[in-house]
Amino acid sequence: MEEVSHLLVTHAQFDHASHAARLRRHGVQVVANREGGEALVKGDDRCVGYAVHGVFEPCTVDRVVSDGERLAIGGVEIRCLEAPGHADSCVIYEVHLRAERLWFGGDVINVGVECQSVELGWNGGPDYRRATYVETLRRLAKLPCDHLFPGHGPACIGDGHRLVDMAYTLAMMELRWRVRRVSVTPFEVSDVDSHYEIVWRWI
Ligand SMILES: [Zn+2]
Repeated sequence: MEEVSHLLVTHAQFDHASHAARLRRHGVQVVANREGGEALVKGDDRCVGYAVHGVFEPCTVDRVVSDGERLAIGGVEIRCLEAPGHADSCVIYEVHLRAERLWFGGDVINVGVECQSVELGWNGGPDYRRATYVETLRRLAKLPCDHLFPGHGPACIGDGHRLVDMAYTLAMMELRWRVRRVSVTPFEVSDVDSHYEIVWRWI
């Protein structure tokens, strides 16, 4: 355990952060963004312990990072990319290794068998925000990514940007389907409004 110096929390949900407190007791430094830090300290519903009938052990965060911030750990540089939507606590950690960019992104983009498909993060959390998620993916699709290491699914070597692009397309297709439902669910209009123009590019 003494070889592990830092835990970079991709988001505060149970299946990604439930052992943070335990690791911290062994001297590991816990890193998260502001929203992640708040959720972890409280161990509240944003940690979705309820989804597995579990109790989330609260955890103090040692370092709070924000978008664009750089860390130097283990001789490598890591850039933090905040990526809200699936949860407000989502951060992608971009590791710079031999001029290549490796993304460790939790549930922002999940990947299917042999890196042939993508899935978006679960939408059952209390701070899931669909429009924000689409905006995040739109921003990410413009950034270089060489290799993608998802929270669920295989490591995808050399396929990073293609998968990010696929995730953005998938999110847009789902949003388009939702716009068509607006007539029967008018209370959702405000959520869709800001993306209306983008949506129509796809229809
Ligand atoms: Zn998640």
